[in-house]
Amino acid sequence: MDRIPVPAVLKDLSRIFTAQGYQVYLVGGAVRDYFLGKKAEDWDIATDAKAEEVATLFKRIIPTGIEHGTVTIPFRGHMIECTTFRIETGYTDSRHPDLVSFTATITEDLSRRDFTMNAIAAALPTGEIVDPFDGRKDITKRIIRTVGDPHTRFSEDGLRPLRAIRFSAQTGFTIEGPTLEAISPSIPIIKTVARERIRDELSKLLTSDNPLPALYYLEQTGLLEHLIGELSMCRGVFQGGRHRHDVLDHLFYTCVYCPSASLELRLAGLFHDIGKPVALAFDTEGNPTFHGHETVSASITEKIMTRLKFPGKTIKAVCHLIRQHMFHYESVWTDAAVRRFIVRTGEDEIERLFALRRADSRAISDIAEEGADIQELRERIIGILKQGHAFTLKDLAINGHDLTSQGVPRGPVTGVILEELMQAVLDDPSLNNRERLLDISRAMCIERKLI
Ligand code: ATP
Ligand code: MG
Repeated sequence: MDRIPVPAVLKDLSRIFTAQGYQVYLVGGAVRDYFLGKKAEDWDIATDAKAEEVATLFKRIIPTGIEHGTVTIPFRGHMIECTTFRIETGYTDSRHPDLVSFTATITEDLSRRDFTMNAIAAALPTGEIVDPFDGRKDITKRIIRTVGDPHTRFSEDGLRPLRAIRFSAQTGFTIEGPTLEAISPSIPIIKTVARERIRDELSKLLTSDNPLPALYYLEQTGLLEHLIGELSMCRGVFQGGRHRHDVLDHLFYTCVYCPSASLELRLAGLFHDIGKPVALAFDTEGNPTFHGHETVSASITEKIMTRLKFPGKTIKAVCHLIRQHMFHYESVWTDAAVRRFIVRTGEDEIERLFALRRADSRAISDIAEEGADIQELRERIIGILKQGHAFTLKDLAINGHDLTSQGVPRGPVTGVILEELMQAVLDDPSLNNRERLLDISRAMCIERKLI
């Protein structure tokens, strides 16, 4: 196939270039995704027109990275990234090319791109393919291969090895021999890459359909040890009991069995038992135990995710799921215990915690269905939530002002009393009326000699 179909929007856009004698090509992910049979998410185009010249062709452009020849063109509801043909030379810091030189041909531009499957262009408006590095052949062979010598290409930009592994997760492709072999020697260069860029690649890897082979690539190349050494420490930590896997394999599988749509769940799956090597002890029969590992796991996870510059909100959500993952529901739980579970977990996080549990159990026993215990707990939670009782301090029939007006001194003690009242109401929702709570709080204050 030497031509690909071109959407009308792109044809119309490209004619604005070609009418002025410029060349213009669709490049990068969009062309690759066409050959992968996937719908492209966004369009990148390359042209021999300089950024200033592109600016004269359109009413409005956004100067995204003028010094690198990149502008964004808003066109009929699309944001199209347009870059002047260029080559990059002299990567003294392995991150940013010292010199960007513009060049006249698409083939030269394609030669600076990372992998053969990302170095295919389609001329616009015709859709005619330019594929000087046999990207299509590699796509057919389902392999990821650098354009040119992998050692050189990885030494220019330490992010590329990680991109190779990320693309393998997204495509299910194998990283071909020499490209894979060049990853370990590139670790010193990878160390110079900005953490945010690493975080973004890891996030794409983890939210792909099947990250499992990519996780093993990370381990096998030594990248895992470099990026998340705390995970490598889980290799060879055996768990006994029903577990088929050591801790690291268990984490990999739990991660993969979490729904791909949620980065937070995938991260929680990957890290939920990471504290086990630290919490490891042995009982009198010599079996391993991991008491309190959920707390250790949450604190290790917080360190890792902070180091990798994840947003605070993501870190908080992941650590919360990890801290709560060890609940053991039994039918004998009282309604008060179920109410406490709802409060502890947070109403909005319950289904995610159950998803983590499903993945965790499946990684242990290979059974994908949800346990009857969780189904029962869910039914009870639904029933209890329907009753509309108080679950947070905001729902209590009295507040801090009511306490101070009774003579309770302002300060932390008010919070302590409200918290105790909350616990009493979770035990017995019928206590949640103003008179009863004022009575109880008065009794508490007298007992503590506060009034
Ligand atoms: P996606 O957008 O799905 O992550 P993509 O292939 O479009 O995938 P981008 O990061 O958007 O990736 O980059 C667009 C193109 O620019 C790539 O297809 C590749 O040709 C080139 N490219 C991006 N990053 C690099 C890099 N670090 N080294 C060399 N070429 C790169
Ligand atoms: Mg892209």
